[in-house]
Amino acid sequence: MIPFNKPCITGNEKKYIHEAILQNKLSGDGPFSQKCNEWMEERLGCNKTLLTPSCTASLEMAALLTEVGEGDEVIMPSYTFVSTASAFALRGAKVIFVDIDPKTMNIEPAAIENAITKRTKVIVVVHYAGVSCDMDKIMEIASEHRLFVVEDAAQALLSTYKGEPLGTIGHFGTFSFHDTKNYTCGEGGALLVNHKPSIERAEIIQEKGTNRSQFVRGMVDKYTWRDLGSSFLLSELNAAFLYAQLENANQIYENRMQTWKYYYQKLYPLMEAGYIKLPTIPEECMHNAHMFYLKMKNGNERQALMNDLKDNDIMAVSHYVPLHTSHAGKKYGAFIGEDHYTTKESEKIVRLPLFYGITKEDVDYVVQCTQAFFSS
Ligand SMILES: *Cc1c(COP(=O)(O)O)cnc(C)c1O
Repeated sequence: MIPFNKPCITGNEKKYIHEAILQNKLSGDGPFSQKCNEWMEERLGCNKTLLTPSCTASLEMAALLTEVGEGDEVIMPSYTFVSTASAFALRGAKVIFVDIDPKTMNIEPAAIENAITKRTKVIVVVHYAGVSCDMDKIMEIASEHRLFVVEDAAQALLSTYKGEPLGTIGHFGTFSFHDTKNYTCGEGGALLVNHKPSIERAEIIQEKGTNRSQFVRGMVDKYTWRDLGSSFLLSELNAAFLYAQLENANQIYENRMQTWKYYYQKLYPLMEAGYIKLPTIPEECMHNAHMFYLKMKNGNERQALMNDLKDNDIMAVSHYVPLHTSHAGKKYGAFIGEDHYTTKESEKIVRLPLFYGITKEDVDYVVQCTQAFFSS
């Protein structure tokens, strides 16, 4: 069976976990966490990163930092993972789902503008498949209406928009290190605090609502309860694992990109023949080969291809069921504007196996089976 995903292991993970055990500090914000933060701050050129237990936790921190609550509205795509919405619904805000651009499956700026009301406080963008949203337009809309922008960059570490790393453009950016993502530590995440006035509060929220970070730096002589917060730190064991991956980030990137380009090149004739559509990468975007997907004509064809691949021992998967059609999505949110593309296009997506170290033989086999599906 060719799996859909295999967590990436590059070599130093065990060694660094062993070092973490010997350093007598397993809780968060230790030496390995600092190394990971320094790596991200230097590589991405951002002010402040905080390692968290997940991208979900990072989104929850971002929701606290934007101070949204009952009566406020948060605009986001319906075509995304549950956590994008749940983090803001947890604060009592109403989730406003809007349509996407079918070329990238990213939020459509015109649909954002159409959904803005006096109650709107935040725009959450999702860089689907590590391909950037139209950030110039979105930041312009946000500044015109004085809104916060949160980038759900869960899939987008090391992608750029006009040369700017994703996650560093909005007021807050969030990454995931779940084992389905390019760089992993099992479960983990990061919050980028690009909005400087929020840095101190972000540290307090991460430390259960206390000013412990200031205490550790010797800035105050005891720490106390200052604000709402939770336990939003990543264990040093996970940070040690993650650091091994970040050190080898270029190697992981190159390997995934090679597979991505190979799929694209081999499946291109099927697009020319009109059987499928392949991802569009806008000129101003550099992506990170997070995902290789193709689009079928409709949901039935998609299921047929996935079944056929499964019969050939290949795991191909689909996602997302649009959130506005889900049980909780209806309760905590509403779709504003026309659903031209969200439902229709989401039914067409098939994701092919793509992970660090997948062999050329396996990729060739996936390509062959996909081609065979259309010739029969
Ligand atoms: C993976 C993912 C998340 C959730 O990440 P976790 O680290 O598992 O919490 C959130 N948003 C998007 C778009 C994702 O792809």
